[in-house]
Amino acid sequence: MQPTSASKGRIVLVHLYPREMSIYGDLGNTRCLAARIRRHGYECVVHDHHPGMPFPQDAHLLMGGGGQDSGQSRVEDDLAVIGDRLRGLATDGTPMVMICGMYQMFGHAFITSEGVELPGLGILDVTTRGQSTRMIGGIVLDTEWGEVVGFENHSGATVLGPDQAPFGRVRVGHGNNGQDHTEGARTDNVIGSYLHGPVLPANPAVADALITAAAERATGRAFEPGPIDDSLADEARTRQIARLRARGTGKLKDTAVH
Ligand code: GLN
Repeated sequence: MQPTSASKGRIVLVHLYPREMSIYGDLGNTRCLAARIRRHGYECVVHDHHPGMPFPQDAHLLMGGGGQDSGQSRVEDDLAVIGDRLRGLATDGTPMVMICGMYQMFGHAFITSEGVELPGLGILDVTTRGQSTRMIGGIVLDTEWGEVVGFENHSGATVLGPDQAPFGRVRVGHGNNGQDHTEGARTDNVIGSYLHGPVLPANPAVADALITAAAERATGRAFEPGPIDDSLADEARTRQIARLRARGTGKLKDTAVH
């Protein structure tokens, strides 16, 4: 299907498992990316990928959200079916943003706090083990796109491989494991992160970094940004960061792990 003549090009945005893996508002990342792609003057086709469905022919940008251990178990078989395609897309430089549960499954494995091992795709060199305490609260990172703010709620403690770069450095909150001050992981155009919120609306620089890579892959031309006023997003992020810095780090909470 050719893009309409008015648009700068057509971008296919694939949301992985929106029914099982979109807790804590992560569907908002897909809505934010689609809205920004259109405001930049491109056509955006959103493809929801559900377990058992064929993976789309074109995929220029992928988003995956968080999920409870049970939700992750429900998608692991399908993830194995499409795993080679996802690894190929990642190697080719397709931008991807994987949040929390999907971040964990883009690593080597997620071993739940009950000892169930969910195999991962190995796209990111990380391994995650569920803990009896959950890491919950607001979180502020330093990243290459400046300060990034979000919300985290995970039992999984993630350890980076020796050469795996993080997505950011924790300034407030827990991050990957509450110990090494890293948060998330990034390899080429693939970002994994624990930040819910959804993370992208309040951090438009990260959204546009993903869109830039997607537009260039979809059109074969340099990205042509459109005029977007991010003053409201910038105000929201600034206020969230100020409040979290004033309050200090998030607290470990002993809660039943679901
Ligand atoms: N179930 C996983 C954990 O508890 C992921 C949670 C999430 O996606 N918010 O760590």
